[in-house]
Amino acid sequence: MNSDRTPRRRVGIIGGGQLAWMMAREAPSLGLEVVVQTPKLDDPAVELAAETVLAEVADARATFQLAERCDVITFENEFVELEELAKLAEKGVCFRPRLEALEPLLDKYHQRCCLREWGLPVPRFVNLAPQETIPIDLGFPLVMKARRHGYDGQGTVIVETGDALNAVWQRWGYPSVLLEEFVRFDRELAVIAARSATGDIAIYPVVETQQENQVCRRVLAPAMVSPAVVFQCEAIARRILEKLDVVGLFGIELFLTPDEKVLVNEIAPRTHNSGHFSLDACDTSQFAQLLRAVCDLPLGSTVMKSPAAVMVNLLGYETARRDYRDKREAIAALPNAFVYWYGKTESRPGRKLGHATALVSDPSQGRAIARDIEAIWYGR
Ligand code: ADP
Repeated sequence: MNSDRTPRRRVGIIGGGQLAWMMAREAPSLGLEVVVQTPKLDDPAVELAAETVLAEVADARATFQLAERCDVITFENEFVELEELAKLAEKGVCFRPRLEALEPLLDKYHQRCCLREWGLPVPRFVNLAPQETIPIDLGFPLVMKARRHGYDGQGTVIVETGDALNAVWQRWGYPSVLLEEFVRFDRELAVIAARSATGDIAIYPVVETQQENQVCRRVLAPAMVSPAVVFQCEAIARRILEKLDVVGLFGIELFLTPDEKVLVNEIAPRTHNSGHFSLDACDTSQFAQLLRAVCDLPLGSTVMKSPAAVMVNLLGYETARRDYRDKREAIAALPNAFVYWYGKTESRPGRKLGHATALVSDPSQGRAIARDIEAIWYGR
């Protein structure tokens, strides 16, 4: 890899799941190719990648092979070993976002501390270390989070009592965990923002995300919130990207309180489920935007092509080997609807198998079409 060579044409992605797959779909239209590092040949992105390094994402030796095959490396997920990757960076491998910027983000407790230091609003939180007693000042319910390797709500548990907390903590083997106040939010919001090497920042419309059991079910774009709320969200996104001095694209999850204050829940240093609507609804999708940022192409417009849109995750609801073609076709036949099927061969409850977007003429129509999509998918 030549880290000074421009333009960058081959992008290495650590990870080969649906996010890498959606990046790989966008690459040809930008004159780019992707190479993926992923453990299984049937992972979604493999079929579209120019080359695949078959290895676990945390395998830094394999990342060296990836580096030899591309001009810049970006990430599909955070389950990497930064210390090992740093050795590659010292040898000139170009990671975007840079590893130093990822460092405070991979551990949820460190991320919270970092956000607080920058003066950004976050829920009240503490670290609970092994053998410590449970602090009483946060009250109950409270939210207990695994500091690393949580995703899609796995590793996030809402506990109502000290006994319940202890039971979960014991099940996890008493690691250090993040405890935080349970935020009685009015809504959950999210914003996707990209930053280029020249310091340009492009921010997508703020969206409303709807979670059930800590898992995102649907996204409504744009969020029906006041300009003051949009202003807070954009200011938060800008500050995070500038403070981290990153080149890349981040998803930022937020809580909106009943008195219109925005708190940061979590930063994902990569493309994010809350930005999938951009595939059909925006001039530039979040996947194309990340490729543009890391390859030194000018950032694209984030403007919506349609007044509003909705994205619904198609989550597994049974354990089966089934491609659900009938349901996919029925959803795709809805007006202005698009289905993305990740090609996973096994369905399990809660597994993200695909998603659907629908363009609508008014944000208030989003909920109704989301209900139609879910009725077909879950058979209700
Ligand atoms: P993950 O990293 O698995 O996505 P998150 O920390 O984003 O986990 O939490 C998942 C969901 O759990 C959030 O979208 C929200 O619905 C709920 N949640 C997380 N933290 C809190 C909190 N402090 N107060 C209330 N709900 C929370």
